[in-house]
Amino acid sequence: MKLAVFGTHEFDRASLEQANESLHHDLVFFEPTLSQETVALAKGFAAVCVFVHDRLNETTLQELRAGGTTLVALRCAGFNNVDLPAAERLGIRVVRVPEYSPYAVAEHAMALLLALNRKLPRAYNRVRDGNFSLDGLVGFDLHGKTIGVIGLGRIGGAFARIAHGFGCRVLAYDIQPNADLRAEVGLEYVSLDQIYAESDAISLHVPLFPKTFHMINRATLTQMKREALLINTSRGALINAPDLLEALKSGVIAGAGLDVYEEEDDVFFRDLSGQVLQDDILARLLSCPNVLITSHQGFLTKEALRNIAESTLANVTLFSQGLKLRHELTSSPA
Ligand code: NAD
Repeated sequence: MKLAVFGTHEFDRASLEQANESLHHDLVFFEPTLSQETVALAKGFAAVCVFVHDRLNETTLQELRAGGTTLVALRCAGFNNVDLPAAERLGIRVVRVPEYSPYAVAEHAMALLLALNRKLPRAYNRVRDGNFSLDGLVGFDLHGKTIGVIGLGRIGGAFARIAHGFGCRVLAYDIQPNADLRAEVGLEYVSLDQIYAESDAISLHVPLFPKTFHMINRATLTQMKREALLINTSRGALINAPDLLEALKSGVIAGAGLDVYEEEDDVFFRDLSGQVLQDDILARLLSCPNVLITSHQGFLTKEALRNIAESTLANVTLFSQGLKLRHELTSSPA
């Protein structure tokens, strides 16, 4: 089956080509992300494969349909970038990969927390520069501290288990509490207010829905402890970034580790090292010694890439054979 892969990077191509060895789909790789500007490239492809930075609004979906596309295969878990009701109206089916390695993202969230707390980026740069001073590098023991986890699905659950393994008290907030996880990790389901008030570190793992958009804002930041570290590996728009910057500048919280950023689409995954960064909020955040930003790489492990490629192409095969699809999205649960 002819599949147009958008937003292709070397690592996508390698894993998809490997997974396709026995399947023999006709994969065509495009570097640009799929949007209104690039949708013409998809003309004649029955299926397109997209990731988190592709923008599938109603107009783009209409053009896809007009060009003969009837399957959108997301090679990611989040689906906030697709207008699902519009896809449904147009008769375009949408599938995703809900679980490829929750450990990849959960471990990256913990890596951000550890590196931020123990100031590893500063320490690394100092030592490379021949500066072996320890001033300003004091962190805290995670053991015995309270970690707030917001969203205890696959990734949040994996993160809670890691935090439990570090000897932390885990406070949890989820609209659907999981009794098995509570028993296994000994976590306490509490209100968001209690998480904000008591946590030494907070890690966000809820999907981006209208209800969770900017859930971290000036009001909620001021509820947090001054020593609190905030970690976000879910979606950038969970956080109001200007409010976060203000809170970091004025010491309302102690630091932030971000793998995602609301305005990341035109920045993350690109080499902009020769240019002046146009996003002033991001530039200011990058200048803060208590901020650690990675470029949406939580998913970037060998295991996750293999699972993503195999699961995506398995769905393309089912689609080409007219069989029932796995992990099909019908309409936004928000
Ligand atoms: P999941 O569906 O397994 O879990 C989401 C959890 O959030 C569920 O337990 C659900 O009940 C809960 N939830 C939903 N709405 C809520 C609300 N309003 N308040 C509180 N809890 C709510 O999803 P997952 O696989 O754990 O992924 C979580 C998110 O991580 C994804 O939506 C995606 O945005 C992000 N993600 C990031 C990367 C990365 O590379 N950084 C990779 C994969 C996924």
